[in-house]
Amino acid sequence: MDVPVPASPPQAPTGLPALTDLEGEAWAALAAVPGARTFTAGVVRRWVWEKGARDFEAMSDLPRPLRSALAQRFRVRHGQLEQVQEAADGTLGLLTRLHDGQVLESVCIPEADRHTLCLSSQVGCAVRCRFCASGLDGLLRNLSAGEILEQVLVARETRPGLPLTNYVFMGSGEPTHNLKAVTQALRVMTAPDGLGIGARRITVSTVGHPEAVRRLAEIEIPFNLALSVHVPSDAGREALMPGLGTSDLAATLAAARVRFEASGRRVTVEVVVLAGVNDREQDARDFARLLRGLPVAVNLIPWNPVDELDLRTPSPDRVRALAATLNRQGITATIRRPRGQDVGVACGQLRRRVLAR
Ligand code: SAH
Repeated sequence: MDVPVPASPPQAPTGLPALTDLEGEAWAALAAVPGARTFTAGVVRRWVWEKGARDFEAMSDLPRPLRSALAQRFRVRHGQLEQVQEAADGTLGLLTRLHDGQVLESVCIPEADRHTLCLSSQVGCAVRCRFCASGLDGLLRNLSAGEILEQVLVARETRPGLPLTNYVFMGSGEPTHNLKAVTQALRVMTAPDGLGIGARRITVSTVGHPEAVRRLAEIEIPFNLALSVHVPSDAGREALMPGLGTSDLAATLAAARVRFEASGRRVTVEVVVLAGVNDREQDARDFARLLRGLPVAVNLIPWNPVDELDLRTPSPDRVRALAATLNRQGITATIRRPRGQDVGVACGQLRRRVLAR
């Protein structure tokens, strides 16, 4: 179902720096704009992050000449919401058109007790997991920190009555392949003068190169970590995730353990369950052996079908059996309920469908 998109302000000329990319000292650049005062940057920053202003005209407490002087040097955001699709279960797919014409996809998932926003970190993805829609065209480009953060602003204004409670970097892209921008986005998300989101509500999901996990562990923000393991062997992972390079699960899990010990948070191990690939009892036993004694919980994700891909979703009974085997072996395992399937807004599929038209 298509939902009307709120009217957009006129686009500022491209090429200007976007305010959503500014952080910390970089905001001081606003002080050099004619007519600006020492407090201007703080006022504008609140308009951007707290009040969600989409253009300078909205910043009604700034003098008009200052608003136009700012608009000549900056634009507020990179992108504009272009399309909203709502699935029967309330899942919203949000497509934002970026200034260079690329399209960015986010998904908003309402649940009884929480509302999760699934954020992208790149347009496309270089890992090209065989089951995933995001990597079908490879990596198109990295998102800037501002482009990552704008997804939160767009989701907030699309459903103002639906407060977001959880934020997961599980949209398109591999966050550790764009770590600088993702790290800045995490800082602004959690900063009191940024979006003011509690770090414990944020999860970063990664294919988990050991070095990348170590670098994530160094970020002094207590976000949750999720590792896309999928298959309990290095060779199996390398076959399923062709852009991964060398898999070293032992080193990845050791790095994740260091992180857990520092933060006291349990790490999530994600397993996209594919019929005939990783849904046998032996797979569950191999997972149990791999993970025994580690501070992790397994999240079993029944595969969301992607049109172009010749794979099969496992039966619900099979997935429940895997969870039971893991639980019997002392590993906490939960099953993720599929969402947004009827109009294909799950897992990077919306962007492809809209672009194919
Ligand atoms: N690149 C990161 C984050 C993005 S993917 C990562 O791989 O972790 C977020 C999660 O969604 C990953 O576990 C990924 O394997 C899973 N996923 C991707 N496509 C899927 C699909 N079609 N069905 C179910 N899960 C999928």
